[in-house]
Amino acid sequence: MSADFGDNHPDFAAWWMPFTANRQFKADPRLLTEASGMYYRAADGQEVLDGTSGLWCVNAGHGRAEIAEAVARQLMTLDFAPSFQMGHPIGFEFAQALTQIAPAGLDRVFFTNSGSESVDTALKIAMAYHRARGEGQRVKLIGREKGYHGVGFGGLSVGGLVNNRRSFVTLPGVDHLPSTYDLARNAFSRGLPLHGAERADALEGLIALHGAETIAAVIVEPVAGSAGVLPPPVGYLARLREICDRHGILLIFDEVITGFGRVGAAFASQAFGVTPDIMTTAKGLTNGVIPMGAVFVRRAVHDAVVQGPEGAIEFFHGYTYSGHPVACAAGLAVLEIYAREDLFARVAAIAPLWEAALHGLRAAPHVIDIRNVGLMGAIELTPRDGAPGARGYEVLVGALKAGLLVRATGDTIALSPPLIISQAEIDKLTGILGGVLAGIA
Ligand code: PMP
Repeated sequence: MSADFGDNHPDFAAWWMPFTANRQFKADPRLLTEASGMYYRAADGQEVLDGTSGLWCVNAGHGRAEIAEAVARQLMTLDFAPSFQMGHPIGFEFAQALTQIAPAGLDRVFFTNSGSESVDTALKIAMAYHRARGEGQRVKLIGREKGYHGVGFGGLSVGGLVNNRRSFVTLPGVDHLPSTYDLARNAFSRGLPLHGAERADALEGLIALHGAETIAAVIVEPVAGSAGVLPPPVGYLARLREICDRHGILLIFDEVITGFGRVGAAFASQAFGVTPDIMTTAKGLTNGVIPMGAVFVRRAVHDAVVQGPEGAIEFFHGYTYSGHPVACAAGLAVLEIYAREDLFARVAAIAPLWEAALHGLRAAPHVIDIRNVGLMGAIELTPRDGAPGARGYEVLVGALKAGLLVRATGDTIALSPPLIISQAEIDKLTGILGGVLAGIA
């Protein structure tokens, strides 16, 4: 990459980049220009192993011809059609296909365009459900500290990452469970940590405080992703499920990251054996190549809302691009790839190698925890004195120079490679990371 891209380089001025230190980035931009299979190519021509599936989304790998062809065909057949009071066949076809892999009972699908929209949609469905059943006072929402549910005001409010919330007002009537993060008891756990199921019991405290009759839903990520990959303690999700059931509260799993194979089953709820009432997805839904999200809903929840007088609109909610035909075409093509290549089972098969390779970095400098589940992983580093996040950022930059894309959230290095990764590529990934960790102060 050329060294003369100064802060004010005109080519970089206009795009205000999301979740980015814009001035720092524009002084030394990092550009990806092509992608194929497990690899990006950077602007300087270097091959970069994709350790993050782009942004947790390109689960089937890059440059899949089947998806490109399906998208091109759809663009020339039906490029757009409204989905308010109108329909199109491929929307129904895709929803139906999704129910084939959905957790048992979650067989109604509402389409959105992103994870953030899926979350806000799910929260609104929960409120609409209670109101339809004569419990319109159930409007409070419970999220979790360190949770990430996108950047809409709903998702922001139930989320629990302080930096994301700091400058903004959030919804009233929202409270948070404690995070399951617990290095003292769980550092270097392999797979699900053994300690922490009892943290679900904090929900009883919140119910006592607010009254069950005021609470619409609890929303958690089965594996917290943006917080730095926190797999759920053994028994934790089942305990949340049991408490929600006892109090008539809907349980929402945000599977925007964990959906579509990431933890070794189509959805984390299947891998962990706990079924929510509503499930939010995006990212791997279309392999990330066309923006789309989908909210899966238990049939009884759907049916409660979709009742009432004949001819009346039941749910005043939706997006211009809900069920966009081109996104549906991409999604159908990627579902076919997932099935044909049996990618979800492949994750379960290769996860032990992934776990062993990651934990092989335990003795590397600065490492204070390593976490893994399915094909997700995190390496947590000690923050440098007075400069939290600096070490993580240096690893990101160093890894890229060495030909590996990772994600840094603070001083945690998060990993989520495409589900097609080979053993040799796993070794290459951890080899590069080990070298980078050894070289930073
Ligand atoms: N929920 C979770 C669990 C996520 O990880 C993300 C994105 N990383 C979102 C919601 C928001 O998705 P989007 O960026 O597509 O709005």
